[in-house]
Amino acid sequence: NDQPDPDPSKKTLVILGTGWGAVSLLKKLDTENYNVIVVSPRNYFLFTPLLPSCTTGTIEHRSIMEPIRNFLRHKKTAVKFYEAEATKIDYQKRVVYINDDSEIKGDISSTEVPFDMLVVGVGAENATFGIPGVREHGLFLKEVGDAQRIRKRIMDCCETATFKDQDPEEIKRLLHMVVVGGGPTGVEFAGELQDFFNEDLKKWIPDITENFHVTLVEALPNVLPMFSKQLIEYTEKTFKEETITIRTKTMVKNVTDKYIEAESAGPDGKKVLERIPYGLLVWATGNALRPVVKDLMMQIPEQKDSRRGLAVNEYLVVKGTENIWAVGDCAVANYAPTAQVAAQEGAFLARLFNQMAKTEQIEDQLKQLSVEQERAPNKAARDQVFTEIKELQKRLRRVKQMGPFEYSHQGSLAYIGSEKAVADISWLTGNLATGGTLTYFFWRSAYLSMCFSTRNRILVVMDWVKAKVFGRDVSRE
Ligand code: FAD
Ligand code: NAD
Repeated sequence: NDQPDPDPSKKTLVILGTGWGAVSLLKKLDTENYNVIVVSPRNYFLFTPLLPSCTTGTIEHRSIMEPIRNFLRHKKTAVKFYEAEATKIDYQKRVVYINDDSEIKGDISSTEVPFDMLVVGVGAENATFGIPGVREHGLFLKEVGDAQRIRKRIMDCCETATFKDQDPEEIKRLLHMVVVGGGPTGVEFAGELQDFFNEDLKKWIPDITENFHVTLVEALPNVLPMFSKQLIEYTEKTFKEETITIRTKTMVKNVTDKYIEAESAGPDGKKVLERIPYGLLVWATGNALRPVVKDLMMQIPEQKDSRRGLAVNEYLVVKGTENIWAVGDCAVANYAPTAQVAAQEGAFLARLFNQMAKTEQIEDQLKQLSVEQERAPNKAARDQVFTEIKELQKRLRRVKQMGPFEYSHQGSLAYIGSEKAVADISWLTGNLATGGTLTYFFWRSAYLSMCFSTRNRILVVMDWVKAKVFGRDVSRE
């Protein structure tokens, strides 16, 4: 960290976000080649695969957070970090407008950051499809704050259900935990919640045993559509054993503070709208575009047909631009919006930028050498420069030989509760689909190895041991 001020001879590379895409890029980027600036409203990286475990206290949230400063301080050349939200990207002016959204604001809380190169890695928002009441009454599961809110709400429902003279119907409602969305987020959360009940809540608050119930609502005919058929069946069977109700082919249309309205086919095949009372509502119906991304797309004519995010080419360049790249959930490159994809895209961009810098260096050297060659006093000197040029040209060809981004799918993994997990793993010869307790240990070790720091790894293991030995903490805070 020896160069705090921007170097005018270098290009300014601005990176938006501190999630999977941006941090994998930062980890592998040779920062000495650019003036690197990172902008994100979150000054930490969040290991999302273990976030469902934070909703019940199996894992404490700080164990899966890694301060961005920790990544940056290990870089050779200083990287600037601004804790702010990018509110607008002006493509023509090459400027990002940023705003400090945190509680404490200085005299200046919004300003602009010019860029030569820009990487958009801002992720996605929660989809609500405009369904009324979702934002007001439902809880999402994307950020640390969401997990904390859910943890608090679970305990609040349990304590309120056991309040003196509570009406039996009201007790039932308060203890009905409804999860909307049968993708991996919804399934993992439902599994974690049922574990919490079976392993701890039941023991600490026996009064709720009769009425505590988890229901998972999914619009499609089955949950976990990205997994193979046998694993879908295995998950549905396991949920049944755990007494989690799965309501497939049921589409939530409206949400009030005490019940959801869901549409499904009745016994005669006709659509019926049903009221389902709930105490806790977790809404996990996937991703939607962030406003800053939507706005950028509107400035670029080539993006007008793209619906789900910034359309990128095979080098992750945002189509219609030459100096903006996009990674992760905000980019559309024909891959699922997963951490695996975002991490590989980020690492690819780091290699690309390192290579671009090297290319420029070599091209500058070549220019210098050709001048030297012309000025060489005699043939021997000219020949020597010629040899050097040949060598450099060879190196340039090697460096320039970088192929496009290719995603390598390692497999899909999900925890489904009661110490069972499902995994579709890409194997040498094909696909391996497995589910059960062994897969659960594989899930644990795979996620542990994917943690971004040793500190995180140790904290997660300690949390697992703590939860096993002492049980999860049921304090409502
Ligand atoms: P994110 O990781 O979401 O990061 C976006 C970053 O941008 C954040 O730092 C955010 O603060 C920042 N940001 C937001 N708005 C702005 C703005 N306006 N300006 C600047 N910065 C901004 N995937 C898997 O492969 N395996 C899993 O097991 C898995 N489990 C998951 C569990 C849960 C509960 C969730 C929610 C997701 C899970 N995913 C998993 C999906 C995975 O987390 C995402 O695909 C991944 O986070 C996408 O990475 P990203 O960098 O695009 O976005
Ligand atoms: P998702 O998009 O995978 O699933 C959302 C589900 O909600 C869909 O099945 C959809 O049919 C359903 N839905 C939508 N509207 C509905 C409504 N009104 N009523 C009832 N159901 C409705 O979303 P997710 O689970 O949040 O996952 C988002 C991304 O993150 C995915 O790409 C996923 O693969 C990834 N992820 C992966 C893991 C993992 O690998 N373990 C875990 C979490 C998330």
